[in-house]
Amino acid sequence: MSKPKVAIFDFACCEGCQLQIVNLEEEILDLIGAVDVVEWREAMSEKSHEYDIAIIEGSITRPEDKERLLLIRSRAKILIAIGACAVIGGINKLKNNFDLDDVRRCVYGDDASRPHLHTETTMAVDEVVEVDYKIYGCPVEAKEFATIIRALLIGKKPEIPEYPVCVECKAKGNPCLWEYDQLCLGPIIRAGCEARCPSAGARCIGCRGYVDNPNVDAAKDVIEKYGLNIDDLQSKMILFGSKQGVKL
Ligand code: SF4
Ligand code: SF4
Ligand code: SF4
Repeated sequence: MSKPKVAIFDFACCEGCQLQIVNLEEEILDLIGAVDVVEWREAMSEKSHEYDIAIIEGSITRPEDKERLLLIRSRAKILIAIGACAVIGGINKLKNNFDLDDVRRCVYGDDASRPHLHTETTMAVDEVVEVDYKIYGCPVEAKEFATIIRALLIGKKPEIPEYPVCVECKAKGNPCLWEYDQLCLGPIIRAGCEARCPSAGARCIGCRGYVDNPNVDAAKDVIEKYGLNIDDLQSKMILFGSKQGVKL
C-alpha cells in the first residue's frame, strides 16, 4: 500500500509551529517513515502538486494567499490547520483592530504604497476554505501534533479536547492563579496544553482560542467570586482573541 503523501505549507506566521514539528526529533522519523513528505519548504527543496494531506501553518493576509490556499484545498483530500495563526488568525488578527492604511504605513513607512508590500484583513484558514482538522496552540504542542497525525494515519478520529484549560489545571493540583490576583483565561480557553502556563505560575493568555460552548455560567460564578464579570475576562483576550467575534 502506498504511503499518504503529505505537504506542509506556510502563510503569514513565525514558523514556530513547524519548528515544533522538527523538534519532535526521534518521533518525527517515525512519522516521516509512515508518510511520504512531498513538499516542506522548511526542511526540503522538492515541491509537488500531488498530495493527500495538506498541513497549513499561518494566517491569510493577502489576496494571493487566498488563491494559493484555494489551490491547495482543491488538491488535498485532508486539510489540517496548525497553530493559532492558521486556526484562529492568532496574533496576526491584532492588525484587524486598526485602519489598514495606518498598519501599512507603520510597517512599511514610505514604501507602504508599493504593490508587493500590501496587506489585507487577516483571516484564519477556515474563513477561506473548509478545514478538516485543527491543531491548536501558539505554538502547537509537539506531542499533540504527533498524536493527532498518528490517529489520522490509522483512520481514527483524533481526540481534540472540548473542555477548558481549568480541567487540566485542576487535575494537576495547581493552586488557582485567581487567588494570586492573576486574571487567568483558563475557564474559557480550550485545553490540550496540560495547563502549560498556570503550571509554571503564569496566567493562561488564551493561545489555544476559545473552547467550543464555554460553560459561561460556571465561569461567571468563579469570576463573580473575585468581584469581576465575564466582560472583564474577555477584555483580557486581546492577543489571541481579537476579532474572533465570540460573545461570551
Ligand atoms: S501559531 Fe504562534 S508559533 Fe505558530 S506560527 Fe503562529 S505565531 Fe508562530
Ligand atoms: S483559572 Fe487558570 S489557574 Fe485557575 S484553575 Fe483555571 S487554568 Fe488554573
Ligand atoms: S495555558 Fe493558555 S496560553 Fe498557555 S499554552 Fe495553554 S492555552 Fe496557551
